Amino acid sequence: MTRQRILTGDTPTGNLHIGHWVGSVKRRVELQSQHDCFFLIANLHAYTTRAGDPEAVHQDCIEVARDALAMGVDPSKAAIFVQSEVPALAELTYLFAMLLPFNRVMRNPTLKDELQVKGLADTYSFGFPLYTVGQTADILAFRAHSVPVGEDQVPHLELTREVARRFNKMYCGVADKAEDEDHEQLGGVFPVPVADVGTVGRLVGTDGQNKMSKSLGNAIHVIDTPKQVKKKIGKIYTGQDSRQPTDPGIIDPEKNPLFQYLDVFVEDEATKADIRDRYQRGDNIGDGEVKMLVADAINTLLDPMRARRTAYEDDAVVLKVLREGTARAIEATEETLAMAKQAAGTGFFPRTISI
Ligand code: ATP
Ligand code: MG
Repeated sequence: MTRQRILTGDTPTGNLHIGHWVGSVKRRVELQSQHDCFFLIANLHAYTTRAGDPEAVHQDCIEVARDALAMGVDPSKAAIFVQSEVPALAELTYLFAMLLPFNRVMRNPTLKDELQVKGLADTYSFGFPLYTVGQTADILAFRAHSVPVGEDQVPHLELTREVARRFNKMYCGVADKAEDEDHEQLGGVFPVPVADVGTVGRLVGTDGQNKMSKSLGNAIHVIDTPKQVKKKIGKIYTGQDSRQPTDPGIIDPEKNPLFQYLDVFVEDEATKADIRDRYQRGDNIGDGEVKMLVADAINTLLDPMRARRTAYEDDAVVLKVLREGTARAIEATEETLAMAKQAAGTGFFPRTISI
């Protein structure tokens, strides 16, 4: 029986954070024993915003891998690999770019959001929108069935599904009306993959506005010390001072990160209900009490990760994990690429790539 493939990944734009944990990494850890898991470090995609910072991107590949290992990704089960060292990904990106109307790529709401939030307005590179096409290649190169991701990635997954359908219909004779689940069985090279959104699809950042993101300075990282976690939580603006006793807006998790963190990280349901209740009634409960509870809960989550991380302090140890993972990724993607080239008429000669 063949095991289903899982592909997902992160951009090396900084250390992983608790948003990654709830949005995707927790799911990866759950799935790694039962599935063939490939976890990508998208260093080429990091050049969409950091092309002038090659050394930092290089080092962040190691950091992201180290954080994933700290969070519980097991290298004996899952392959963690570097995008730029797997040539099939770039080759499929080129091919898939031909299958997508330009306007379709630009309509992607996550792309628009990122351009705005990252302040890229009219200055973004040609490669910026191309990264969304690249992501379709990253996923399809593994013929992955499922992709554990946060909510912001769902539009990218939709694009991926479109590419798979189009390719299979155009080059593999899959009928126009075929159901997504039947594509492979009908001779399509690519399964039509599904998004597997984590327990929390969008954890808000400590700024209380944007998605918690590595590159926005609003994240609680796995490398943060217990003290730093307390400090970051302490600084969250909750509007407490101007709060009306029964203002319901203040406990809207979208407006007050503290309450989303309370929901997500504090396990005891009775404590949560009590805090919400007292806070809403305007009882004698300060932000300080809630903040302390939340910071403690986050530190409890991070403690075993901090401990695990110490085993991977040496860069050489992480690089060995990446090398082994990359070799496995090359093997898997070369197989797919050969199938795709054969179907699309671009294949002439077999080849072998090794590292
Ligand atoms: P960047 O700021 O560079 O875009 P990021 O913090 O958004 O970094 P990514 O590498 O883009 O992180 O995302 C990696 C994975 O983690 C994706 O599946 C994404 O959906 C998920 N993810 C990232 N941030 C969050 C969040 N705040 N809540 C839930 N999931 C998240
Ligand atoms: Mg992102």
